[in-house]
Amino acid sequence: MRITGRTRLAGIMGSPVSHSRSPALHNFWLDEYGVDGVYVPLAVAPDRLETALRALPALGFRGCNLTIPHKQAALAIVDSVEPMARRIGAINTVVVTADGKLTASNTDVFGFRENLRDCAPDWNAHAGPAVVLGAGGAARAIVAALIQEGVSEIRLVNRTSARAQAIAEDLADAKSAISVAAWAKRAALLEGAGIVVNTTSLGMTGEPDLGLDLAALPKTAVVADIVYVPLDTTLLTTARTRGNRVVDGLGMLLHQGRPGFEAWFGTPPRVTRELRASVLTTLSAAR
Ligand code: NAP
Repeated sequence: MRITGRTRLAGIMGSPVSHSRSPALHNFWLDEYGVDGVYVPLAVAPDRLETALRALPALGFRGCNLTIPHKQAALAIVDSVEPMARRIGAINTVVVTADGKLTASNTDVFGFRENLRDCAPDWNAHAGPAVVLGAGGAARAIVAALIQEGVSEIRLVNRTSARAQAIAEDLADAKSAISVAAWAKRAALLEGAGIVVNTTSLGMTGEPDLGLDLAALPKTAVVADIVYVPLDTTLLTTARTRGNRVVDGLGMLLHQGRPGFEAWFGTPPRVTRELRASVLTTLSAAR
């Protein structure tokens, strides 16, 4: 990479930010497509977020991604927010427009949907109810993606029921019913399901396993885990062994970067085997 007088700038704001894989992702694409650009980690403390975001146009940045803990707070700072991101209550991608305004979206929705299309192309919204485990920030994007796909019944289950209830109230619409179940009932919810998605942090390195009994799940169902460290969670290995199709979390992470890259650098990027391998190296190096 060479920095020139015309190098386009983008980055990711977080606190901390050093764990983020987005610099590896975007700089891989910049190299691959020969774009004169650079994508940098930006350590921004929560009380400096507004100053930092407002400085983007002045510094000539094309935009940025946002990670923990800025995804919600930034909503109130940017100039315009895509409607679905507003309903989700979080943004992760900011684009500086030609007139210096900040427009924002949540590309986790796109990332999950595109990864599902890549890894389980024959799945469709009519395959049966969706079971979503977890009701944190990521769960909101997954539920929104399933609604956009046209799933008519979503069964949501979380350790803390009130958080699941809040998602049901914020996101349910005329075509998609969301029911909330008690955490202890999660295995029984799998009966007749077309897809199950783990959005909890259970199964991540350093966390307990999800420990979900899959006996009631049809073998035709898709099993997705958005945890990507490790890539092969116990949920996915168990599901694969009994014959279910599985979708791992790395693809969502890669696909969610596409809309931002295209907006900032002018080239639509592709998620390839080489990209996966390159970002995977950074995951195993961090373990
Ligand atoms: P979050 O907002 O902190 O939510 C964590 C979720 O996990 C909540 O539903 C929480 O339940 C549940 N949980 C945590 N510990 C639990 C336990 N011991 N028993 C039962 N439930 C437990 O986190 P997030 O941002 O949604 O992220 C969740 C996971 O998704 C993380 O592993 C993250 O790395 C991954 N992720 C992946 C991508 C991707 O692109 N692949 C994108 C975003 C996030 P309570 O509400 O009861 O606390």
